[in-house]
Amino acid sequence: MNQEELFKNVISHSKEYGFIFQSSEIYDGLSAVYDYGQLGVELKKNLRDFWWKSMVQMHANIVGIDAAIFMHPTTWKASGHVDAFNDPLIDNKDSKKRYRADVLIEDYIAKINAKADKEVEKAKAKFGESFDEVLYRQTNTRVLESINKAAQIEARFKEALEQNNLEEVRQIIIDCEIACPISGTKNWTEVRQFNLMFSTQIGSLSEDSNTIYLRPETAQGIFVNYLNVQKTGRMKIPFGIAQTGKAFRNEIVARQFIFRMREFEQMEMQFFVRPGTEMEWYHYWKDTRMKWHQALGLGENKHKFHDHLKLAHYANAACDIEFEFPFGFKELEGIHSRTDFDLKKHESFSGKKLQYFDPELNESYVPYVVETSIGLDRLFLAVMSQAYMEEKLEDGTSRVVLSIPYALAPIKAAILPLVNKDGLPEKADEIVNLLKYDFNVATEAKDAIGKRYRRNDAIGTPFCITVDYDTMENNTVTIRNRDTMTQERVAISDLWTILNRDVSVSNLLKKC
Ligand code: ATP
Repeated sequence: MNQEELFKNVISHSKEYGFIFQSSEIYDGLSAVYDYGQLGVELKKNLRDFWWKSMVQMHANIVGIDAAIFMHPTTWKASGHVDAFNDPLIDNKDSKKRYRADVLIEDYIAKINAKADKEVEKAKAKFGESFDEVLYRQTNTRVLESINKAAQIEARFKEALEQNNLEEVRQIIIDCEIACPISGTKNWTEVRQFNLMFSTQIGSLSEDSNTIYLRPETAQGIFVNYLNVQKTGRMKIPFGIAQTGKAFRNEIVARQFIFRMREFEQMEMQFFVRPGTEMEWYHYWKDTRMKWHQALGLGENKHKFHDHLKLAHYANAACDIEFEFPFGFKELEGIHSRTDFDLKKHESFSGKKLQYFDPELNESYVPYVVETSIGLDRLFLAVMSQAYMEEKLEDGTSRVVLSIPYALAPIKAAILPLVNKDGLPEKADEIVNLLKYDFNVATEAKDAIGKRYRRNDAIGTPFCITVDYDTMENNTVTIRNRDTMTQERVAISDLWTILNRDVSVSNLLKKC
């Protein structure tokens, strides 16, 4: 199964088993909007809870809030979103398709770098143990050519972005001979800026001042509340405020399933620090967040840092944590040192002081902010695409298994009566009643037991607990492990302890 097939399979599997549905499907769907089904909502909630616990519960100096989606319209003037939250767009005149100009160029650069990596891989396979990758990259002409070409385009692109030179961005597309993937032609329009915020009206219509926006990020709800939280929570700098919630962006390149949606969920944390210490905290949060991702066990070398070429108007350092999705390495989380930009702007637009009195320094200042911002839907996609596996078994059959980390699995254990009679279903219900207070468990009596095992493998259930005739005699059951498929006979009275040992989220939290 190549990566393209994997991605297609993840999408169809997500629908078939009730993880993700296209929004309003009966009306042919709404582009780049998705609904989470009965299993998807559980996985999403578990991911959110894991993030929340690792941020809020595990850090004495981080608290959470839940701000409203609607905010005073001046918020978005102050934050710069009204004037500068734009994407550079370009249309292909033949296919009439619209693209983000920056994405076209970045994909092109990634392709050139991938070509160099391929050469290196080939040489590695050829020379084996004695291969010196660093030397090869520095000396092989074909590799050098690709690396230099990519670096040159990158430098030119960076300069064009910094100068906001849209003509030059277009010229790079022309010079690189980038073609529209649909029409195959290089017949491009000018590059234009397009604002990504959705707007609507509050209260009575018509007056201009009644226009409000659906928040394009959750961060501003934290900034405008930072003093409320600091004062009422008696927080001392450095401290953080965490929030999860919906954000909305009128994305133009609306593809790649739940990777880029128009309505999505963010999990953000703003960490307020003393000015001058922000770089120290920026590096702290880079390390901490990378460790968090690795605790999920999605595989080694699946994550990497990518420093931003062009810093956003509010940042003095920024990077992404990228994940290797089936369509390549792409942004999963952003870590930004946002300086005092946002708070200072809110001070000037609101006319209210947003200073913190630092008792240790005996002075007041506007704190600096380091932010970690991750898309919950992208994390969901990362987990699904890494978990989906098609396995050939020893007996010649095959199975699909979702190897979701146990603690995050939608259902932790399926309690399965071997047959649907002779008191076995009632015994299964008893076990459900024993476990349901602490674990999300399910019971299922329909179909042959093998078929039920396969179904539970396909939805990522770590354990299948089977009730058979021996259970009725001696109160023992078999417990089958999703990954190893081995079965063990255990006492019903031990089930709680076994589940608690293996599916508890504290296993993940301890690795962070
Ligand atoms: P991109 O460059 O991919 O558009 P971004 O840099 O605009 O992303 P941020 O503004 O840093 O993204 O938002 C923080 C996080 O929110 C991202 O790392 C991503 O996980 C998530 N996110 C942003 N836009 C979307 C979207 N349209 N759909 C799903 N998740 C998103």
